[in-house]
Amino acid sequence: MSKAEQNIKIGITMFRGREETRRYSKVQENYIESVYKAGGLPILIPTLPTDADPSRYLQELDGIIFTGGEDISPLVYGEEPIKELGHTDINRDKWEISLYRAALDMKKVVLGICRGIQLMNVAEGGTVYQDIYVQHKGAFGHLPRTQAMESYHHHINVDTDSLLYRIYGQEKMVVNSFHHQAIKNLAAPFSVTARSADGIIEGVEREDKDFVLGVQFHAEALPPLDSSYLAIFEALTAAARKQ
Ligand code: MN
Repeated sequence: MSKAEQNIKIGITMFRGREETRRYSKVQENYIESVYKAGGLPILIPTLPTDADPSRYLQELDGIIFTGGEDISPLVYGEEPIKELGHTDINRDKWEISLYRAALDMKKVVLGICRGIQLMNVAEGGTVYQDIYVQHKGAFGHLPRTQAMESYHHHINVDTDSLLYRIYGQEKMVVNSFHHQAIKNLAAPFSVTARSADGIIEGVEREDKDFVLGVQFHAEALPPLDSSYLAIFEALTAAARKQ
């Protein structure tokens, strides 16, 4: 079987939820559909105990997506919680940080979405705003609670010398937005490649890597509205195929 015909296996991290007496691992179907439509084989990755070996997953994968979800625990980046902090799962944070480090060690392609961009930054030594509305002066609306996921909400300005620009080809693009946290102190290995007009970081990447990219908007939710948003998943699977 030639490389072009092989399965391109893209890991998708999951979150943990409780419904009454039962515990579940879940992920929004948009991620699964976007990876599949882009030609990848979606592989769901549950949160395992923090002492589990992440390389056992990474050796089976060509790339990995760090998905959205709950807030990152401030304990992970050395802060105490403020009262605006939402639900956290520190077990998931620690497991995903070890997955991220293993992915880089094993030269896999990486895409972080929403919580995922923040997770990547924390894994590299950066911090996040626990709540942009009280900690980032002038932050405008980034969390329209009753809006559908596939809704345009604000613009981002994209650096033309970036992977994100090469993917979408737009200097100013409209995106959805469902977050009240964002990157605060940028970790040294990353470059900021997109911001909203209020200064919030909406895109970062590792310029020293082929494809280690994070976006604050939910790219996985937009293809039902406009299929051109699938481009980030097509670029991910194409980069994974070349590894
Ligand atoms: Mn936003």
